[in-house]
Amino acid sequence: MKPSCAPSSDSKRDAHNFAIGSDSFAPQNQLFLSYFFAWYRRHQSVDVRYAGVAMAAGFGTVALCLLIPQWLRLTGCIPSVMEITVAGIAGTLLATLLYRTLANERAKQAAATSLAGALLDANRECMSLIGLDGRLLRMSEYGACLIDADSPAQLTGAQWLSFWNDANSAAAATAFAGALAGHRTAFRGLSHTTAGRPKWWDSRLTPIKNNAGHVVAVVGASHDVTNQADLLAELQSKNELVSEMEAHMPLVFYTYSADFKSFHYVSAGCSKVFGIDPHELRHNPTAWLDLVLEEDLPSVRDEMHRIVSQSVEGRVEYRIRRADGSIRWLRSTGYPVRASDGTVLRIIGTAEDITGEQERITTLDKLAFTDSLTGLANRAALFREMEERCAARAPFGLMFVDLDRFKVLNDTLGHVAADRLLKGIGAVIKAALPPDAYVARLGGDEFAVLIGSIAEKAGLESLAQALLAELSRSGRNDGAGTFVTASIGISLYPEHGANHEALLTSADVAMYAAKKAGRNCFMFAGKEAAETIDDFALERDVPEALASNQFLLHYQTIHEPRTLSVHSTEALIRWKHPRRGLIPPGVFVPILEETGFIAEVGSWVLDNALSQLAQWRRHGACNLGMSVNVSARQLRGDGIVWEVDRALKKFGVPPAQLEIELTETALMENPDRAQKVIAALKSLGVRIAIDDFGTGYSTLKYLADFAPDTLKIDRSFTSKLVSDPATQSIVEGIIGLSRKLGIKVVAEGVEEQQQLDILRGVKCDFVQGFFLCRPQAPAHLERVLDLRVGEAAFSI
Ligand code: C2E
Ligand code: CA
Ligand code: CA
Repeated sequence: MKPSCAPSSDSKRDAHNFAIGSDSFAPQNQLFLSYFFAWYRRHQSVDVRYAGVAMAAGFGTVALCLLIPQWLRLTGCIPSVMEITVAGIAGTLLATLLYRTLANERAKQAAATSLAGALLDANRECMSLIGLDGRLLRMSEYGACLIDADSPAQLTGAQWLSFWNDANSAAAATAFAGALAGHRTAFRGLSHTTAGRPKWWDSRLTPIKNNAGHVVAVVGASHDVTNQADLLAELQSKNELVSEMEAHMPLVFYTYSADFKSFHYVSAGCSKVFGIDPHELRHNPTAWLDLVLEEDLPSVRDEMHRIVSQSVEGRVEYRIRRADGSIRWLRSTGYPVRASDGTVLRIIGTAEDITGEQERITTLDKLAFTDSLTGLANRAALFREMEERCAARAPFGLMFVDLDRFKVLNDTLGHVAADRLLKGIGAVIKAALPPDAYVARLGGDEFAVLIGSIAEKAGLESLAQALLAELSRSGRNDGAGTFVTASIGISLYPEHGANHEALLTSADVAMYAAKKAGRNCFMFAGKEAAETIDDFALERDVPEALASNQFLLHYQTIHEPRTLSVHSTEALIRWKHPRRGLIPPGVFVPILEETGFIAEVGSWVLDNALSQLAQWRRHGACNLGMSVNVSARQLRGDGIVWEVDRALKKFGVPPAQLEIELTETALMENPDRAQKVIAALKSLGVRIAIDDFGTGYSTLKYLADFAPDTLKIDRSFTSKLVSDPATQSIVEGIIGLSRKLGIKVVAEGVEEQQQLDILRGVKCDFVQGFFLCRPQAPAHLERVLDLRVGEAAFSI
């Protein structure tokens, strides 16, 4: 049976357990051998062949003893009984002696063969018997297997020295020469097996000597240490790597006791990273902590204890001040090494110098959070700063500063000059505010300032005033003579929001409100500003409202006071907003006026009102009048005259049936212009009414100048008619005067019978109000008018 080639686990351990040329265990070997021979003989059965040989020798001796006297007798000498007895005893003794000697020799030989065989079998080395000429006489079975040979015979006769690689052949030759010289020798060498596998061997060469002490052969015992050598090489390269790393990298490897009282190991990098010798750290394990900056120390300690108490890995970044005074950023990591019961035995980890990384981060951070034009903090930086302040729950004020009419400046000055102006604004803002003010540019002409030292309204108010003054002064000082003003919205943390979004939105709304309030002023966030933002939202929705027909007209009838017959209707606009529902004109008409959309919407109103009137006229309401409200803004150009003319022609409505209502305040805005428009409209044949009469500051003189056809006495008079005799007198006076001027009077806002009675008494021409009819959708009004649209025509 072929022996197994599995490498012996003992091989690694045994590799160095022999001494070159040592005879130290020879006496033990002799003891071992004598014990073995004694034991072997006890178990050896008697060999019958030796007994036969011995007996034959004995008989031979006896026969000789007996034949010799016989021959002597023939020759005349007769052996006596005595002689015969002596011959018998001598033969027996000789036979016994011979037998014992032969058996002994044989047993020794058998024992030696058996022992050698057993030792070879037990040996996990490659055993070889080498002749004096260096040729292999024999190799052990196991050895042949180790070097991938089919059988020991395959290698017999090969030159033993040729097995070894060039690099080792000298060592092999030296060792062999030593053995030939009678010494035990050893060496480590690499050879390739017959299959070409490289293997490392620890070889011992032992000379075999004859009785005369001459070396007759050499026994080689080669131990396969390939695994060990590989491991060693790997370990060596790892060690080299670690040493290289330690030499070049700013890194420390350490093992710390779980109570942080001692270091088990600190790598050489410690000197590089901490500027502390590793040995010093072993004696004073907290020496590195003494270098940590005071403000970073708590987080370092917390993390260390967290690793142990929670048995988790940890990481902390902190700064140290080294002995040379330099500040370095370090990152330490720690991993708990646990016992089988889970308790933390020690901490292993690294400490790394990340100063370079931190510097790069700081540079990137600076780039990412700086406004490139002004060098101020940018929007992202402001958000971050605000979030930090909110997290710290420290009250602060936020000023949202927006330059007024910057677009105009940009267009007139050009981009280069406008950029220069923006650069200077940052400095102006900083100069006007306390040193702790955090100034950021949000983009375009928008700036934001955080003020922590003053976080109450009164203080911020005077700061805002100072800032506005400084800004307008800076404009005058500017070489270009640019007049710069700004609108400022102010919000307060925590009053106006708990995060940057809410605070910025409220400050933005307040800024917008400040713009609406006339610019070059400031406003605090709050209800007032919130209402403005609602308007702002509506403003944005107007184009969509026009496009998707969200506007509609309701109509309110105007009656003859006695018969209550319907004289005309007033078109009143509504906005059916998809989210906010039906919005009354008082809310959105001012926005339309401000944004200029009123022209477009006004034209839509005119078209729809006249189209409706034309329809009603077709159904019999031939004399019905239609009043359409026109706002002050619509009077600024000639467009309204052209529009009215166009609409009248388009719907075929007689001009006299259309009355244009202009509020008293609208006329007062630019009386000369109003007069001209009125004259032009009148030349079309259209009637003119002065709306809300009595609410403005017009004098009665204007009645003559504008020469309106109708006066609409404001609701505020009507409401006081019953309770206030003076109002009644005023109303009576207006009616009297108007009649003299040929002007009809309509009393608005009639809500009760008594008011109607009084108006009848003072001979008011027409009445309008909820008491008579609320503004209604056309379909409802058709029932009031008793019109059957699409059926029979009816004449009022
Ligand atoms: P206005 O021209 O004075 O219109 C009369 C307003 O008084 C209407 O309000 C009407 O609903 C309300 N009213 C009528 N009778 C009574 C009453 O007995 N009691 C009370 N409390 N109120 C009464 P509305 O419809 O909200 O319109 C408000 C204002 O919006 C109008 O005042 C007018 O100035 C303006 N407006 C309405 N439609 C248009 C339009 O198409 N163009 C323009 N430029 N302005 C319009
Ligand atoms: Ca009106
Ligand atoms: Ca009115």
